[in-house]
Amino acid sequence: MSSTPVAVVTGGNKGIGFAIVQALCKHFQGDVFLTARDPGRGQAAVRKLQEEGLHPFFHQLDIDDLQSIQALRDFLKEKYGGVNVLVNNAGIAFKVHDTTPFSVQAEVTLKTNFFGTRNVCTELLPLVKPYGKVVNVSSSVSLSSLASCSKELQQKFRSDTITEEELVKLMTKFVEDTKTNTHVKEGWPNTAYGVSKIGVTVLSRIQARMINEKRKGDHILLNACCPGWVRTDMAGPKAPKSPDEGAETPVYLALLPADADGPHGQFVSDKTVRTW
Ligand code: NAP
Repeated sequence: MSSTPVAVVTGGNKGIGFAIVQALCKHFQGDVFLTARDPGRGQAAVRKLQEEGLHPFFHQLDIDDLQSIQALRDFLKEKYGGVNVLVNNAGIAFKVHDTTPFSVQAEVTLKTNFFGTRNVCTELLPLVKPYGKVVNVSSSVSLSSLASCSKELQQKFRSDTITEEELVKLMTKFVEDTKTNTHVKEGWPNTAYGVSKIGVTVLSRIQARMINEKRKGDHILLNACCPGWVRTDMAGPKAPKSPDEGAETPVYLALLPADADGPHGQFVSDKTVRTW
């Protein structure tokens, strides 16, 4: 088993994930794994970085596929005995003018952004080593969407005692409510992406609390963040930030020094803790 520290980035073949891998290759003292759901796209991205003189490794990971997540988990356990840095970056968003029925958009978006990210966490968080860092790439849209929720939902999502099971029930309820077109009446904002990212931010707050309860002495720091509005296939060419600039906050959180005692359980943008 290798004692080399290891960092893993999901959705690393393009966009912000690719820029995060690139920055970690330069600044993380250890092995960096670019993961992608499609091995062809993933290997092509690795080759691009190799041409720059960087040395990322590749592992397949489709966060929608539990077997794929478990294969990565087993590999990390066997080869490294765990993981030091995990960046949950993979995500999807339907385009604004997409005509796919809203209920389908809700199901598909939540499946990847919330349930897929949660499954990665369920399988990989137990492997995170002492002084490890976990970065869940959420979005400032989670904050604006929270403000558009009913007072009752806002209270639940801001609660310091909400459990992961309760959060999963709420995310499932959103998808169900869109199917009967009752989601607005039930207090939800009219954005599947926004609700999925509320899920990611609240999940991060819950997971950080669990780390405090169960692994207090391990000095693990886990946060949600927003990369900003970034020029990628997801956000389009008009966004103000380059992918490198978008990677700055996630990379800052991934490389917090060993003696840092925070941020932890926070929502961070532009390297600044925001009020949830
Ligand atoms: P992007 O260019 O569309 O890249 C998304 C990445 O996620 C791709 O590598 C994609 O792989 C991967 N992915 C999607 N579904 C996956 C799955 N099931 N399993 C594994 N990988 C999967 O988007 P981006 O702008 O870089 O976004 C990265 C993250 O930042 C997302 O979580 C997004 O919500 C968040 N974010 C972006 C912005 C922005 O302005 N761009 C703002 C706030 C938050 P494929 O190439 O195979 O599709």
